[in-house]
Amino acid sequence: MEKLWQIAQKINTEQCSVALSESMRAHTTFKIGGPADLYVRPRSIRALAEVLRRLENAAIPVFLLGGGANILVGDKGIRGAVIDTGLISSIYPVSGLKGGRVLLYAACGASVSLLCEEALARGLSGLENFYGMPGSVGGAIYMNARCYDDEISLHVDEIWHLDTLGSIQKVSAASLPWSYKRSPFMPGEGLAGSTVGAATFVLTPDNPQAIAARMRARLADRMQKHHFDYPSAGSMFKNNRVFGEPTGKILHELGLRGYRIGDAAISPWHANIFINLGAATARDMRALIEHAQEVVLAARGWHLEPEVLFVGDF
Ligand SMILES: Cc1cc2nc3c(=O)[nH]c(=O)nc-3n(C[C@H](O)[C@H](O)[C@H](O)COP(=O)(O)OP(=O)(O)OC[C@H]3O[C@@H](n4cnc5c(N)ncnc54)[C@H](O)[C@@H]3O)c2cc1C
Repeated sequence: MEKLWQIAQKINTEQCSVALSESMRAHTTFKIGGPADLYVRPRSIRALAEVLRRLENAAIPVFLLGGGANILVGDKGIRGAVIDTGLISSIYPVSGLKGGRVLLYAACGASVSLLCEEALARGLSGLENFYGMPGSVGGAIYMNARCYDDEISLHVDEIWHLDTLGSIQKVSAASLPWSYKRSPFMPGEGLAGSTVGAATFVLTPDNPQAIAARMRARLADRMQKHHFDYPSAGSMFKNNRVFGEPTGKILHELGLRGYRIGDAAISPWHANIFINLGAATARDMRALIEHAQEVVLAARGWHLEPEVLFVGDF
């Protein structure tokens, strides 16, 4: 902690907000999680680069946080530093057309839904399927977020990424390998350990009323599916073609809808959505996840792979 305190004092507080022992509950959509030793919110990509460099040089482990919409943070919290990208959120059009299409730049911490709204305000179509999905641009790229059979990577033109020392490079998204819910930034891939700093999105001019109607339809669908009724992290497990049916259907058929451990529950309306009824701990949620995996393994012989990422100490 002494080392972290020294680092915290060296971080430029005009460029970053800094806190020690920050509870992660407020920073995850599950509303679960113990304290992060050091919590830093850089206000710009330059400040992000500087913080990454300092932490790397001090050998302090770093967890990059976007909207916290796809993570389960352990009750004992996160050792080392959490860098919250939420203040790095600019969005603006890039001059010049790309084959009759328009580029919109978004920094890593920009909310995906705000990006969709900015596209609408400029009469640009392409991102409607992602409207209403919680989280940031950086998190969506890291996760290769997928909504209504559409993948975020299909709309990205270029990505600016930072290595652990904060050095920035630009890469064309088309030159990188993407697959179902996997990105080049994940462990074992070519850009593992890199931070997404910003990206440009390729969009097509269209009638704003038509764009708005498509966005409204997606949001209405999420509301009707109770996405925002309780804290959750969206789908708990990945789908797998081998199963022949969606994971939620399998869990439902095995009678798991409504199953509960403490305040962690499998939602009564969709068996692949796990919810926090109020005071769920990470331990409860993890026990529930393991229970669902055991039931499916015993009944069908399949291992369910969580889509939600486990972060920190349980
Ligand atoms: C109600 C609800 C509905 C959802 N619906 C969907 C859906 O339809 N489709 C879908 O795909 N997901 C869905 N999700 C999950 C979630 O919204 C997505 O996975 C989203 O892309 C996560 O983004 P985030 O910014 O919150 O990432 P976080 O949860 O903050 O982080 C996720 C991972 O990304 C990494 N990361 C974050 N920012 C960066 C960065 N700048 N550089 C490098 N790595 C970074 C983190 O380190 C972590 O490993 C849903 C979640 C909720 C709560």
